Amino acid sequence: MPKYFVATRQIGERVDSGNLHIPPEVIHHLKKVLRVRIGEQVIFCDAASTDYHCKIATLEPFSVTIETTAAAPEPAYKVTLYQSLLKADKLDWLVQKAVELGVFEIIPVQTEFSVKKNCNIARLQKIAESAAGQSMRGIIPKVQNVQNWEMAVAQAAKAEMAIIAYEKAEDFSIKNAIESWGEVGNAENSENFENFENSNNAANSQNSNNATNSQNLKNSNKKPQKIALWIGPEGGFSGQEVEFVRQNGFFVVSLGKRVLRAETAGLAALVELGLGLG
Ligand code: SAH
Repeated sequence: MPKYFVATRQIGERVDSGNLHIPPEVIHHLKKVLRVRIGEQVIFCDAASTDYHCKIATLEPFSVTIETTAAAPEPAYKVTLYQSLLKADKLDWLVQKAVELGVFEIIPVQTEFSVKKNCNIARLQKIAESAAGQSMRGIIPKVQNVQNWEMAVAQAAKAEMAIIAYEKAEDFSIKNAIESWGEVGNAENSENFENFENSNNAANSQNSNNATNSQNLKNSNKKPQKIALWIGPEGGFSGQEVEFVRQNGFFVVSLGKRVLRAETAGLAALVELGLGLG
């Protein structure tokens, strides 16, 4: 069933198409590309993640009848993917897949070893929109403008949990990071960055496999809801970059023993976050 995004304030209370503003390009797509017929079903989603399940009532002029409304399933957590700039085709692919896997927002970042210095945000936003419709998301994840390193680090440090994927990291996984966050971040106010930083450093300097630690982990069930996920460029992060963000309270995590391509790494991390937080 096709799904399109429309603006909230344009959808009214009435259960007919009178107040449902369907943009002309969507009508064109439905009629000329999908060649829909009267009686076929379409979903329109508003900015409050409400899905309007509609039936096509007439084609000329185009109108629909709203049959049911339901909340679109969105993850309870929000992951902002801070992705170092990659070659254009890789970024296209990554944005599409990251949206399918539930990413909340994507921020391209300039890092030391990024070969590319910029990217076409409008094009990426279009890709995000069509992936969101295709995968039945409740929002269109936003692709933000490219940020420089300092801006991006400062913003990510405000997330409840910030993690950076580093292929040379010790054996400390995303699962360990979530558990450590629950154990230490939970005790203090996680909005308070000082506390978060301290707890995070403690978590990373500990052997996450030790018995007492895993015993404590079992008792904790609070999970972060706003996560900043950092993935490097083709050439990886520099040692200094990783050290810098570690000092800023990021968890430095491994995604396993193999070195993944940047676009694979982002997806693997999103899946792992989904398993840990979902
Ligand atoms: N440094 C290597 C590989 C970079 S891989 C090189 O020079 O070719 C690109 C990005 O994917 C890395 O910056 C990292 O964020 C992520 N990544 C890849 N494999 C990883 C792993 N096993 N664990 C954690 N992160 C990984």
